[in-house]
Amino acid sequence: MNYHPYLAANDPAVSPTLADPELAVLETLGTRRSVTVGEYLYREGDITYDFYVILSGAVEILVRSDGEEQIIVRHGPGRFLGELNLLTGQRVYLSARVVEPGEVLVVPKAALQHVIATNPGLGDTILAAFLARRSVLLSGASAAIRVVGSRFSPESLRVREFLARNRIPHEWLDPDLDAIVERLLREFAVTPSELPIVIASGSVLRHPTPGVLAQYLGLTIDSLPERCFDLLVVGAGPAGLAAAVYGASEGLRTLVVEMVAVGGQAGASSRIENYLGFPTGISGGDLIQRAVVQAEKFGANITSPCAAASLREEAGHLVVRLFDGTDIAGRAVIIASGARYRRLDVPRLADFEGNGVYYAATEMEARLCAGSLVVVAGGGNSAGQAALFLAAAGSPVTIVIRGHDLGASMSRYLVDRIEAEARIDVRTNTRITALDGDRTLTSVRVTTGGVDAVWPCAALFSFIGADPATGWLSGCAVLDEHDFVLTDRSLGDGKRWAGDRCPLRPAIPGYSPQAMSGQARPSESRRPSAKDRPRCVPSTSTWRSLTDGLRTLADPLWKGSLPVYDF
Ligand SMILES: Cc1cc2nc3c(=O)[nH]c(=O)nc-3n(C[C@H](O)[C@H](O)[C@H](O)COP(=O)(O)OP(=O)(O)OC[C@H]3O[C@@H](n4cnc5c(N)ncnc54)[C@H](O)[C@@H]3O)c2cc1C
Repeated sequence: MNYHPYLAANDPAVSPTLADPELAVLETLGTRRSVTVGEYLYREGDITYDFYVILSGAVEILVRSDGEEQIIVRHGPGRFLGELNLLTGQRVYLSARVVEPGEVLVVPKAALQHVIATNPGLGDTILAAFLARRSVLLSGASAAIRVVGSRFSPESLRVREFLARNRIPHEWLDPDLDAIVERLLREFAVTPSELPIVIASGSVLRHPTPGVLAQYLGLTIDSLPERCFDLLVVGAGPAGLAAAVYGASEGLRTLVVEMVAVGGQAGASSRIENYLGFPTGISGGDLIQRAVVQAEKFGANITSPCAAASLREEAGHLVVRLFDGTDIAGRAVIIASGARYRRLDVPRLADFEGNGVYYAATEMEARLCAGSLVVVAGGGNSAGQAALFLAAAGSPVTIVIRGHDLGASMSRYLVDRIEAEARIDVRTNTRITALDGDRTLTSVRVTTGGVDAVWPCAALFSFIGADPATGWLSGCAVLDEHDFVLTDRSLGDGKRWAGDRCPLRPAIPGYSPQAMSGQARPSESRRPSAKDRPRCVPSTSTWRSLTDGLRTLADPLWKGSLPVYDF
């Protein structure tokens, strides 16, 4: 048995001790029970677990790695167990074993959620500890989930991307670089052709897609008993998560369905500096994790990967059909499916996607480039942020734009920084014409004013603009010529939600309107800092609509028309 170095220091932020008044609150919600040495309160691989507070005795938190258990931390009286997965509903990846006999308080998950939502002091202590524990695990304290796959494999990158975006602690092992892989493959009887694999709680998933992995981890809709909600939110970018926070905090039973992984474009950003309230900037991952915890704290359910395929109206509800054919109903739907980045129109692009061509610039992609020359295509803020981040990570960066002025489409603060960064070179009036490489990208071909050149590079980061991700709504909602969803006044004839022109005319007026949020809406800014507006608008109107709906349903004298909301 090894003692793990991470939590051994018992940092009070990570492992706080509850005071007597806090214990008294929890006492009213849980049941006491005696525990004996060697008993496991929960084990890695369990579907879920309760919230435990230690009243007497001691419990160790363990991770199984390389065939043996490592102790992450030992908790004594006044300490509580658990981690963020208690709220997110993910499968358990650590075990808790009693090492000194005593008594614990067992609080069911639903009661814990109630405490977190209603008791700010105690709730904050628990949430802060859960977040701190997740950060510790992400910093490498737990190898409970292992991905074994080549750095050249797009399949393996997709799985790692899914885990990283969802901030699920994991370790990546490359068969070409990590000596331990050979032993692992023997131990689990895996042949090289079966890679990539994911090893979690002693199970092996061969060639897992993010969907299969999510199902194993308990992140898909299958883990939810319900199929009918007050509020459905499609898309878990900043706009969708903001809508979920506001909807759930108003008591709406809220479900967010997300096609790829929580965070949307913002989750792919290394550093966002123009978001209100973060003067020194915040990484997209941190921002999104906070938003997810905030939404879950109020009881919102978030499921991914889970893609909406269509939207229809049925029996007074709006029904979203998912790609697997599952129908989920909502009394209101907020569409926050955002935008999808455009793909470069060059030959062999698909050969290099995930293998030299990337649409995100996070720690993971920076590590893949390892200080080598990289090219960033695009002149927007996302390209600017990516270039600065990659340069700071040690890569010489060339930014390529077709226009003649970087300032035409990028915020001034980013242009100034780029100009001051010696490791970044900006090439204007230039277009990428081809990609070269065998197993992975090795160079790009470009043309500048009719002059062709070949630039060796390890990666191309593509941020060349985005189109609204509204394909799933075609035939269901009114789209404009650029595929933005029309709502409100843009429907014309001075109408808002009302009458024949409502894109999804509700069967019971005012009962189940659709609302829009974020970048799928035509006038929306492409910046997360503009999310104050979408976060308030749909939730306020949706809430008013739902409450009006409830009132009108309860009022037999109601004969009015659809309420008109002011935007
Ligand atoms: C690398 C990068 C860096 C950036 N840096 C900055 C910055 O520093 N400052 C700034 O202001 N802006 C920045 N941006 C832009 C910013 O992230 C976006 O403006 C913001 O994320 C838009 O939020 P959204 O929720 O409307 O849409 P999105 O972020 O696009 O989220 C939409 C979500 O909906 C999901 N979805 C789509 N279709 C479906 C479907 N059918 N079913 C279910 N889910 C679906 C998508 O998978 C996605 O997760 C950056 C973007 C990138 C890519």
